[in-house]
This record gives sequence, structure tokens and C-alpha cells, in this order.
Amino acid sequence: MRIIGLIGGMSWESSLEYYRIINTEVKRRLGSPHSAHCIMYSLEFARMHALQHAGRWDILTEQTIEAAQALERAGAQCIVICSNTMHQTAPHMAKAVSIPVLHIVDATANYLKAMGAETAGLLGTRFTMEQPFLRDRFQEHGLRVMVPSDEQRQMVHRVIYEELIDGRFLDASRRQFQEVVDDLAAAGCEAVILGCTEIPLLIKAEHSSLPIVDTTTVHAKAAVDWSLRN
Ligand code: GLU
Repeated sequence: MRIIGLIGGMSWESSLEYYRIINTEVKRRLGSPHSAHCIMYSLEFARMHALQHAGRWDILTEQTIEAAQALERAGAQCIVICSNTMHQTAPHMAKAVSIPVLHIVDATANYLKAMGAETAGLLGTRFTMEQPFLRDRFQEHGLRVMVPSDEQRQMVHRVIYEELIDGRFLDASRRQFQEVVDDLAAAGCEAVILGCTEIPLLIKAEHSSLPIVDTTTVHAKAAVDWSLRN
């Protein structure tokens, strides 16, 4: 079993999910008492949050590269960035370490293709929905990604940073997300990508008029596939 290096704390609510899913999946595949061989480097999110909102992706890139290098020194054999937003730094990180960075879009795109979906809605932070770093990579996989309206993107972003990373999952917000998903379905999407690793804590399959693609689960399972592959 190869050692998975996780960069977490973005936020710790979703890092917990990665840890839980990765260990559950290893046990499911190999049987009890197997568990994942992994190392997590958990960052302090207040500083990351401030830098994101100040547009300081240069400093964020340096900090996440430091985390990745520390994981490599500690023996990690791959890197998993436990946040869609922070994949903005992934191409730089991939050049700064000698172990693979398992990209969240590659895992998600494979999942969408296996479902037979070609057009999907993308929910995430404004950085994820508005900047090209994830959308372009989906396009390279031959997939079309649509994002909600400006007003809806603001609402989704606010709920992520004011509620979800704080561990609050409110019915009123869930209803607002459901309306956004309904609009994406009406616009022709065949699935909705929960492209923020905390959204799957709010929206489950039964809440959505479209099939959901839970990036936390898909990414965590891809890490297990990689770890168990010889
Ligand atoms: N976990 C989030 C994501 O997947 C948002 C928090 C962050 O800014 O990293 O995008």
C-alpha cells in the first residue's frame, strides 16, 4: 500500500471526510483491520482564507508547496489537496515535488464520463466557479461545465465561507442550493458537480434534481485506487 499525503485544513470539516472515506474504503476493499497508510498536513485556515480573499495566490502557492514538500520528506508517495479551490496551486505544486499530485478534476472527470454525462453544472467557491483553473481542465477532458448566475454564485460562495466551513448546515441554505440545481437542470446540465469539498455535507443525492458528483468522495476514492495499485 502506498502512502497518501493529504493537504487538509481547507477546511477541517472536509478533511475529516477525506480521512473517514479513505479509511472506510481501504477497509471495504481489504477487510478489517486494514486501514489507510496516510499523512495529513493540516493548514491553519484563517490565514488561507484571508490570503484567498486578498487575491494573494502567490503566497498561497508558496505555502501549499511547503506543505507538499513536508509531506514528501515525511514519506508521502502522492499528494491529495483536500480542496477544489486550492487546486489553483496544483500545477505549480506538481513541479515542486517529485511525487504525483492527484488532481481532483481528473478523478471527477473520470466519474462523469463513466456516468455518461457530457455537460455538468459546477457549484463551488467564486474562485472555483469564476476562474479558469478547474473549468479548463474539465474542458481538456472533453466535458462542458456550466456555472450558476452571478447572484447565485454569490449566495453559494457566502454559504460556503459563512456556514459550511464553520460546520453549519442549514435547511434554508439547502433549499437555496436546490433552486440553483433546478436552474442548472433547466439549462441542460446532466449532473451537478459539488465542487467544494464541504458541499456534500449539505447536499445529498436525495436533495438534488440532478445526479450529484461529490468531489470529496470521488477524490478520496481515487486516492485509495492509487494507493492500492501496484
Ligand atoms: N473546501 C473548499 C473547496 O473545496 C473551500 C474552502 C477553501 O477555500 O479551500 O473549494
